[in-house]
Amino acid sequence: MSEKKEKSAAKLLQEKLCMKRKNGLLKADEAVMEKTGVFCEGYKDFLDRSKTEREAVEYAVSAAEKKGYVPFKKGMALKAGDKVYYVNRGKAVILAVIGKKDISEGVHIAAAHIDSPRLDLKQNPLYEDNETAYFKTHYYGGIKKYQWTAIPLALHGVVIKADGTKVKITVGEDENDPVFCITDLLPHLAAAQMKRTPGELIKGEELNILIGSAPYKDDEISEKVKLNILSILNDKYGITEEDFLSAELEAVPAFKAKDIGFDRSLIGSYGHDDRVCAYTALEAILDCTDVSKTAVCVLTDKEETGSDGNTGLRSSYLKYFLYDLADCFGTDGRTVMSASECLSADVNAAFDPTFADVSEKNNSCFINKGVCITKYTGARGKSGTSDASAEFVGRIRQLMDKNNVIWQTGELGKVDAGGGGTVAAYIANLDIDTIDVGVPVLSMHAPFELVSKLDVYMTNRAFYAFLAE
Ligand code: MN
Ligand code: MN
Repeated sequence: MSEKKEKSAAKLLQEKLCMKRKNGLLKADEAVMEKTGVFCEGYKDFLDRSKTEREAVEYAVSAAEKKGYVPFKKGMALKAGDKVYYVNRGKAVILAVIGKKDISEGVHIAAAHIDSPRLDLKQNPLYEDNETAYFKTHYYGGIKKYQWTAIPLALHGVVIKADGTKVKITVGEDENDPVFCITDLLPHLAAAQMKRTPGELIKGEELNILIGSAPYKDDEISEKVKLNILSILNDKYGITEEDFLSAELEAVPAFKAKDIGFDRSLIGSYGHDDRVCAYTALEAILDCTDVSKTAVCVLTDKEETGSDGNTGLRSSYLKYFLYDLADCFGTDGRTVMSASECLSADVNAAFDPTFADVSEKNNSCFINKGVCITKYTGARGKSGTSDASAEFVGRIRQLMDKNNVIWQTGELGKVDAGGGGTVAAYIANLDIDTIDVGVPVLSMHAPFELVSKLDVYMTNRAFYAFLAE
């Protein structure tokens, strides 16, 4: 029999005083891993169904209605346990479960965004060049343009016709659908292209989507391929070229969400940023029935272009909703907001060993180490951040530990490497205590991004602990 070695005093002191940054997969027990697996199957299904902000809103509303949510109306009678939702122009949605405590004590808000980087069609997108038809695009959000060539693209969106009726278009998601593609230059002839700076490797005006090459059979007209495309679109959707003027059509990667790795520990997909936080927050509020403080979940639009516009969080729609909700209880909105707290949920950059030099290891988040809680974001000296107070970080830290949520901290890269912001600042500007939380992502903003399944589930647990508190 071997003698069990006693731990040295230094070892014991180290265990007591030093921070542990253990892999979450070594902390999570079998039951947690099983729940993680089940939760992530639902998440992958959501990703495949919700590639645009409009589709994410439809998904959220349909899931909410199944759980008894009803549309919010100004002045409606509300009591503890009631569930309401408010849709902002089909592109953002707020859900709320009324709590037992008086609303003047504040609400708990989970906020995430449901828009992702993509290629929007220009207003006059259709043209023919050398007997091939194309759509011109204007990219949406921060992308590395070269990543969007030579991959299958699907088209999602709406067209408002001259008579005002709306047609929904989704092409490229069904197994039997065609897909679309942006061509790139073959390496053999790319000597000049490869001398361009990386940002210009593919230029914005080169992101032209190939949509057809078959001519309309007629001898009299020119631009036969363009006419043929218009004829197909008119047969299928009843639209004309002019209808593109009042359309929102978004080209997104046509891939489906997939498990990544022999061990299936990760998920690869388009749009993890930020549907991973949207889904985890949505599922958390849908699980809430009996809450002490009113729980609110905001799924917003326009984060990727700076949160401007009336469906983005720089607008007043969240504030107005809270005002109207407060009104239902005879309280003023300002009192509610000042007493409220918010988890602003957005993805963070996971440490990537291949590109280690942009990260500062002690303050990076890592895949599989749980939900990332970030005190501040911003760039160039914390510009544009809300910077949560030590008190609020302390409160959330306690909440996570009490609920066995595996969590970590991390900022977005080295101090001078770049940076980024989230909607946290806009919510904090309403006098609401706000902190950033979210899922670490590899290849953020690429057409195919990677997250860890355990981190996804832990983010859901973090939201639930907060909203159901
Ligand atoms: Mn984001
Ligand atoms: Mn983003």
